[in-house]
Amino acid sequence: MSRSELRFEPYSLTTDEPFGTAHGQRSHTDIVLVELLSDELIGLGEASMPPYYEETQSDMIWFLSQVDAAQLLSYPSIDEAMVYLDSIAIGYTASKAALDIALHDLKAKQQNQSVRDFLGLNEPTRVESSITISLGDMDRMLREVEEYHEYPILKIKLGIGLSDIDIIRQIRDHSEQRIWIDANQGWNSLTDAIKICQALQALGVELIEQPFKIRAYDMVKALTESIEIPIVADEDCQRLSDIDDLIDCYDAINIKMMKCTGLNEALKMIAKALDHNLQIMLGCMTESSIGISAAAQIAHLVDWADIDGNMLINNDPAIGASLNNGTLIVPEAAGIGATKR
Ligand SMILES: [Mg+2]
Repeated sequence: MSRSELRFEPYSLTTDEPFGTAHGQRSHTDIVLVELLSDELIGLGEASMPPYYEETQSDMIWFLSQVDAAQLLSYPSIDEAMVYLDSIAIGYTASKAALDIALHDLKAKQQNQSVRDFLGLNEPTRVESSITISLGDMDRMLREVEEYHEYPILKIKLGIGLSDIDIIRQIRDHSEQRIWIDANQGWNSLTDAIKICQALQALGVELIEQPFKIRAYDMVKALTESIEIPIVADEDCQRLSDIDDLIDCYDAINIKMMKCTGLNEALKMIAKALDHNLQIMLGCMTESSIGISAAAQIAHLVDWADIDGNMLINNDPAIGASLNNGTLIVPEAAGIGATKR
C-alpha cells in the first residue's frame, strides 16, 4: 500500500528594507510551506498572499488541514484534483496554489521530468524578468536603481498621483533601463491618470499595471483609449473567470499562481488570453524559491515575466529558479526544480 501524507508549516518571509506599494508598507509576509509525500517522493508547494488579498496564514492552515492527502493523490489528473479542492471551500486560492504546485512537482518527479516537460510545453527560450523597486523614500528608490543597474527591466511601484511623474523623471535621470509601472490601484482620478500615463509614456515607460481600484472598467477603458502603452490588469484579474470582464477594457493581464490556484488554471488563463489578443504578464507575490520555481516552468510562454519575489527576501527557505541580473535561471531537475535548504 502506498504511503501518502500532507505536511505544512507556517513560515515568514522577510525583506531587508520595508516593501512599499500603494497598499502600504510591510517587512514580512506570512506564508505556508507544503510537502506532499507519496512513497519516497516529496512534492513541494507554497502559499503566499499579501495582506490586501485577505487570505491569512491561519486561513491557509485551516484549508490545508481539511485536505485528505490520499484522496488528493487518487485523481488521474490535476484538473480533477483541483475540483476536489474546490469542493472543500470556494476561495483559498493561495492554499490551492500550494497544493497545485506540490502536485505538479510530485507528479513530474514520479516521471523524472521537469514540470515543463511533464506538461508538454514548448522548449524554453531565454526569459528576462523585471526586478521590483518598491515605493518609498526617493533616495532609497534611487539607491535600489543603482543596485540593480545590470537588470534590463525595472518594475517601479507607484500609485501616489501626479507626483508619480517626478519619481520616474528622477529615475530616468539615473537610468536608461526599461521601465514598467505598477500603480497598485493607487490612482483615483481619470484626468490625472491620463496626464500621468502620457508623461510616463514620453519617459519611455513600457506598460502600466492596475491604475485604478478594482472593477473601474469604464475608467480603464477611457485610459487605454487615451494612451498607447499597454494597461495590465493585476488585482482585477485573479481567476480564469475574470477574463471575460477585462477583454474590452484592458490590453493585458497579470497571471499569478497565488491568485489563480496554480499552474493548472494559469495555463488555461494563458490560452484564453491568447484567444482574445490580450498580452500576458506572469507575476508573483513575495514568494520563496518554491513558488517562483513553479512560475519559472511556464515563464517562456508569456510576453512579460515579473518573477523576482525570491530575489527580494533575505530568508529563502529553498533553492531553485533565480535571476542572474534579470535573466531567469531554471535548474535542470525533475519537478519544479526547487529543493528545501
Ligand atoms: Mg501588480
